[in-house]
Amino acid sequence: MLNPQVMVVGAGPAGMSAALAAADCGVKVLLVDFFSEPGGQLVKQTHKFFGSRGEHAGVRGIEIARLLGEKVRTHLGVELLLDTQVLGYYPDGVLTMERTVDGESEYLKARPRRLVVCAGASEKPLAFPGNDLPGVYGAGAVQTLMNVHGVMPGRRAVMVGAGNIGLIISYQLRQARVEVAAVVEAAPVIGGYAVHASKIRRLGVPILTSHSVKEAHGERELEGVTVWRVDERWQGIPGSERHFEADVLCLAVGLSPLAELLWQAGCRMAYVPELGGHVPWHDEHQQTSVPGIFVAGDAAGVEEASSAMVTGRMAGLAAAASLGSCPHYRELAGEARAQLEALRAGPPGEKIRKGLARLEEVARRAG
Ligand SMILES: Cc1cc2nc3c(=O)[nH]c(=O)nc-3n(C[C@H](O)[C@H](O)[C@H](O)COP(=O)(O)OP(=O)(O)OC[C@H]3O[C@@H](n4cnc5c(N)ncnc54)[C@H](O)[C@@H]3O)c2cc1C
Repeated sequence: MLNPQVMVVGAGPAGMSAALAAADCGVKVLLVDFFSEPGGQLVKQTHKFFGSRGEHAGVRGIEIARLLGEKVRTHLGVELLLDTQVLGYYPDGVLTMERTVDGESEYLKARPRRLVVCAGASEKPLAFPGNDLPGVYGAGAVQTLMNVHGVMPGRRAVMVGAGNIGLIISYQLRQARVEVAAVVEAAPVIGGYAVHASKIRRLGVPILTSHSVKEAHGERELEGVTVWRVDERWQGIPGSERHFEADVLCLAVGLSPLAELLWQAGCRMAYVPELGGHVPWHDEHQQTSVPGIFVAGDAAGVEEASSAMVTGRMAGLAAAASLGSCPHYRELAGEARAQLEALRAGPPGEKIRKGLARLEEVARRAG
């Protein structure tokens, strides 16, 4: 049985920041990730980041992963356990894990004094005939194939979703010399930043707003996609169909927080669409309704990497403070909170501000 003072699940930007913040306070941290490298989503992000200078704006995601990864590997207060999936949380506060070593599984248990869940988010699917054909991918999977494994997913793609992820991956597909026949978006407006939309438009890729997928076609694998115009209730309009030949259909239709461990721990959850679906209620210290269990990053509500790093730091500091190991907590947490408020300010932060207000409202109504 492992008995860390703080255990952090997930070594993405949130988890690495949480682990470093707690370890800097002198606390012994166990940082666990399913993958063989730390970094989470960052390891496939070849584009330069927006966000704040303090959180590496202007630096490529893969480089941020390398910088933080080096810090967690060399920090004496952090034990990094890779290739290890946390399987479950039990009522006695024990977490079970499966670790893969040389292709063999071994099972481990841990009972941490404090738990910080930074498990990130999963891609949302979309229901339409043919959505199980080989060639229909989540956008993150396409990005992993191209940017992590150097594999072209196909020759001609249709992208669904004109948020930042759909737009960025469309651009990266073009960089990998995959033709992008169209980006379709059910909303009447483009959700991602204008700078990303302009880049792909300049490459001649049409962005069809108020459109969605009607059907994917193919005998044994994807051969083409029919899209159609949708009304304000996102219902398809017969007669408006357009067909595109494609061997890749890429779904970038949103992310859902990965909060299974928090459900198992009995944390109070609320359905908040602006934050990606079911999210754990948490206070300004990132603590959930279960004392001693903290949450940060996309698992606390889908946002972006800069805020994941800040909420991770806040959770790590708060976990250390709750063990009596962070004498300057008020000051450090105050700085982080101010940084988070700046990141969430203005029109880009409106959705998350609405989501957080709704989370409070739902929690208040539930008592
Ligand atoms: C295409 C794309 C472009 C983006 N562009 C930007 C951008 O320009 N700027 C920006 O700020 N943000 C951007 N983001 C968003 C950003 O990547 C995420 O918000 C951020 O990575 C969330 O960090 P996280 O640490 O919460 O989760 P993640 O990065 O998802 O990390 C979670 C980690 O937890 C691990 N894990 C999960 N469950 C378990 C388990 N049970 N056991 C063990 N390990 C587990 C996973 O393996 C993973 O490593 C982009 C995202 C995408 C997909």
